[in-house]
Amino acid sequence: MASGDPSTPFVMGYELIWDDPQVHVLRVPIVQLGLRYTNCYVVRDADDVLIIDPGTSSPLIGRAFAHIADELGFDLPQARFFCTHLHFDHAALLKQLTQPGTRILVGKAAYNNNAWSYYELRNALLKSVMIEEGVPAMSRRGLAATKWEPRVCDLPDREYELLTDGQTVTVGAHELRVIETPGHASGHLCLYDAEQRILFSGDHVLEKITSGLAFPFEGDDCLHDYLISLGKVEGLKCSQVLPGHGTMFHGLAERCNSLRQHHAHRLSQVYEVVARNPGCNGYLVMREIPWKQSGPYENLDELTFSQKSNMAAQTFAYLEFLMNSGEIVREEDFAGRHYRIA
Ligand SMILES: [Zn+2]
Repeated sequence: MASGDPSTPFVMGYELIWDDPQVHVLRVPIVQLGLRYTNCYVVRDADDVLIIDPGTSSPLIGRAFAHIADELGFDLPQARFFCTHLHFDHAALLKQLTQPGTRILVGKAAYNNNAWSYYELRNALLKSVMIEEGVPAMSRRGLAATKWEPRVCDLPDREYELLTDGQTVTVGAHELRVIETPGHASGHLCLYDAEQRILFSGDHVLEKITSGLAFPFEGDDCLHDYLISLGKVEGLKCSQVLPGHGTMFHGLAERCNSLRQHHAHRLSQVYEVVARNPGCNGYLVMREIPWKQSGPYENLDELTFSQKSNMAAQTFAYLEFLMNSGEIVREEDFAGRHYRIA
């Protein structure tokens, strides 16, 4: 079912993809990234409605969302909202769609990291990591800007419900298990319906895109976290994965395996760059990684800030992982950070 009614204020497609519980996917456009849209899932059993990842924010999207709620016949203010994580393309619309009294379900770690005091500190930390890794000033400003999360955890009088691993979220008669899956973002959550064998995977596992790793602000080992998190979902009995981007797919275990192989391959490439360039900083490693089949990017200026920001986060995460596994060492002096093989 597509929303092509001429009275629709803004065309936002949606489709029924599951019957019990009833699940509609709404394709919420995102203009800020290379990805075309975020999947918002409306999960429903009778009057009980859970909205998973409302998407990015704009007045038009907010109005289109309200229009679709009307067409589907549910009361938006009565719905509960669940965010797999708080990246702007999943969570920014919370501010517009919720009101005092709305229940917002979010990972406890994601909530704690989104608090205002931490939010400011986080951006300062991000800039200092970039300086230490040798990222030039012009690039630094743009890269930092694209890593911002919307501030959605102190909306007035909302009822926040903070979730951790193993808790259950019920929708009518259906039980969805919370699986904490950090790595792509701190406090990232998946939701698993064991009876129906469906997994709402957020950005933890996507079919065609390799999810980015979180930026290692304070020496976090995001790849280590991510690999542990893959282990938590890959053995699930799962007939369909309902991801944050792209279409739903099956073959969860195979996809997890190919993601592991991808990261192992990248780690070996990062190690080789460090071996060839003793004393290099993270920015040099980022420029030398063969991101494309044909090799490294010749001109980083041709890339968007979002692409560069992701490349920086991946690079720094791989370096942290290799350090923690004892394969490389980091030295620090007044010029910043330098790496060599152990
Ligand atoms: Zn994300």
